[in-house]
Amino acid sequence: MNFAGKTAVVTGGSRGIGRAVCLELAKGGANVVLCYAGNDAAAQKTAEAVEAAGGKALALRCDVSDAAQVQSLIDTAVDRFGRVDILVNNAGITRDNLLMRMSEADFDAVISANLKGAFLCMKSVSRLMLKQRCGRIVNLSSVVGLRGNAGQVNYAASKAGVIGMTKSLAKELAARGVTVNAVAPGFIETDMTAAMSDGAKAAAQSTIPMGRLGTPEDVARAIAFLASDEAGYITGQVLAVDGGMAV
Ligand code: NAP
Repeated sequence: MNFAGKTAVVTGGSRGIGRAVCLELAKGGANVVLCYAGNDAAAQKTAEAVEAAGGKALALRCDVSDAAQVQSLIDTAVDRFGRVDILVNNAGITRDNLLMRMSEADFDAVISANLKGAFLCMKSVSRLMLKQRCGRIVNLSSVVGLRGNAGQVNYAASKAGVIGMTKSLAKELAARGVTVNAVAPGFIETDMTAAMSDGAKAAAQSTIPMGRLGTPEDVARAIAFLASDEAGYITGQVLAVDGGMAV
């Protein structure tokens, strides 16, 4: 896919799925502005890999749950590259526990990073994309947002909320050529799932019709398609990338 001359902002771009998205867009020639929470070394490595893959990179530390930091991220992207064509709301965290043991702080932290973070980023880029009369927003939901999961009330609420925001903003921006879609990955091999026990991983794998966990690249290719010119007549959709889990 050709992203030459396009500028993409990828939140949580330092590691995992976000890193794979940065590299997929860079292969098509995109300028990639990636933000991350605190892992400077991982962000630097990804930025170098983006440049090696053919893109231009800018890595910025930014907590997506903070409105001022998000505005500064988008302003910096525009200062550097002149526009924002693609936003991938990928930054996300988990704080798992059964509801009875889940603290209010852990509920708030997950909603702030996963749901409010996507809201703030979409709010910051929407005005730009409306003026440009084109743009692509891709939000990370999850199979857990579609089906729920014991021990993830906070995470499921955030990822189901992302779907509601995606469909609503798709309707608001459709007439101006800006598309808003979501992907819903299943179990993907990243740091987020590395913490699971072998037993939990085997149990998860047994629920995947394709019989394997997904890779970050499996998800990144779907995101790149939704971010491309070729996907211009697709909006408000949720694309499951899960080896058949949610069928
Ligand atoms: P990951 O490997 O844990 O990476 C998370 C990324 O988000 C890192 O770049 C991290 O930055 C960044 N981040 C976390 N909190 C942030 C904040 N407040 N502000 C800015 N950046 C922040 O995660 P992943 O597995 O690739 O998941 C990526 C997305 O896919 C998430 O939204 C997740 O919910 C979703 N997803 C994942 C799976 C899966 O199985 N892995 C399944 C479904 C959906 P640092 O490097 O600085 O920490």
